[in-house]
Amino acid sequence: MRFNVAQLLKRATGSSRRYQMREGIEGIDPGLIIREPLVGQMEMVRTADGILVRGELTTAVELQCDRCLEPLIQKVEFKIEEEFRPAIDMSTEAQLPYDEEETRIDEHHILDLIELIRQGIFLALPMHPVCQLDCLGFCDRCGQKLNEGPCDCKESVVDPRLEILKKLK
Ligand SMILES: [Zn+2]
Ligand SMILES: [Zn+2]
Repeated sequence: MRFNVAQLLKRATGSSRRYQMREGIEGIDPGLIIREPLVGQMEMVRTADGILVRGELTTAVELQCDRCLEPLIQKVEFKIEEEFRPAIDMSTEAQLPYDEEETRIDEHHILDLIELIRQGIFLALPMHPVCQLDCLGFCDRCGQKLNEGPCDCKESVVDPRLEILKKLK
């Protein structure tokens, strides 16, 4: 996920490069179980101040279903668009000021996308992943996994409103 952009930095504003990405990113974050390589298109454009990175990327991660707690594979699609700025001026080698550590091109002209990609994945994750849209989860009375079949609770549950009606009769 590290690109040497020395050549692109020497070119005129508006120059660009395209990359076809396909990279294993298993170790990108201890909290993520990556199940597919990162795939997609990336473009880097020389701007007046640095390099604009644009990309549309996909991968897949393993999550746990919010309802039944079984593991599921979640496809993750996200875009990145961020301008990186060089730490040193290409022609004078003078240090340049910067505030954003994660969008800095280092002294060796390395542009590292790892942090942007890590954040992109987290932002694209669903808040409540489900293994299937109609996942039935557990019975909250007996704990039966309802995707595997119904439990007996429904028949034995007595609706309190019915009880009242019975008494009235
Ligand atoms: Zn589920
Ligand atoms: Zn039940």
